[in-house]
Amino acid sequence: MKYALVTGASRGIGRAVALRLAAQGLPVIINYHSNHEAAQAVAQEIVQAGGRAELLPFDVASPQAIEAAVDQWEQQHPDDHVAVLVNNAGIRRDNVMFMMGDDEWHQVLDTTLNGFFYLTRRLLKHMMPRRRGGRIVNIASLSGVKGMPGQTNYSAAKAALIGATKALAQEVAARQVTVNAVAPGFIETDMTRDLPQDELKRLVPMGRFGTPDEVAAAVAFLASDAASYITGEVININGGLYT
Ligand code: NAP
Repeated sequence: MKYALVTGASRGIGRAVALRLAAQGLPVIINYHSNHEAAQAVAQEIVQAGGRAELLPFDVASPQAIEAAVDQWEQQHPDDHVAVLVNNAGIRRDNVMFMMGDDEWHQVLDTTLNGFFYLTRRLLKHMMPRRRGGRIVNIASLSGVKGMPGQTNYSAAKAALIGATKALAQEVAARQVTVNAVAPGFIETDMTRDLPQDELKRLVPMGRFGTPDEVAAAVAFLASDAASYITGEVININGGLYT
């Protein structure tokens, strides 16, 4: 059976993506780092709506944790494979660059960029053989498209993720694996809770932040059969803030 794996699916955009993919009929593997209760609640919501969900916690920044978790999942699912991978887990550690600590730089790169590399490389083993096909959707950011002051670490990680999306798309296209990204602007989640929202909303032509589900709708489309000839693309989802 084909599964979808969504990293960072316990909250925010990842949670909305997991709910959408489950509603499209895919059994969903909910990855998270430490927030077990929130992840459990997402799984329950999916099951109550008639879908299938299971939890698979691991730190995307740890190649050892990824190997252990995926190995274990494979042992428990000998006839199944991951056909849809959504690389969504991400963190912010904002600071102006002249004050930025090594840890702030590395934590953001390790989670967003290295996490994408470790997990995608591992799960390509599920998608490449026998032209099984697959869908990889990476959650980038407006910050990686235009750059945001105070976010050199985050902008660098997200811009690199976009570059990797375009390169990998060309590598695996012949195996019917598509690789795309979405680049959200300001979305209402825990990640943006501490920002001066009233000030920032005035910068957005639509006058508001987006919702996680408005991002999830585009991700679910890119993960669907309907998007079979779209690869290497970046969809901006930002209320007209920057296009
Ligand atoms: P969020 O509400 O802060 O949720 C972050 C999720 O990532 C949580 O499920 C968290 O798990 C998980 N996570 C964090 N570090 C992890 C790690 N090392 N390993 C595994 N899971 C980890 O964030 P969000 O706003 O939904 O953001 C989701 C993605 O969208 C991120 O990549 C972010 O950069 C991107 N994005 C967000 C916005 C925005 O405005 N919100 C805009 C553009 C792009 P726990 O619950 O266990 O901590």
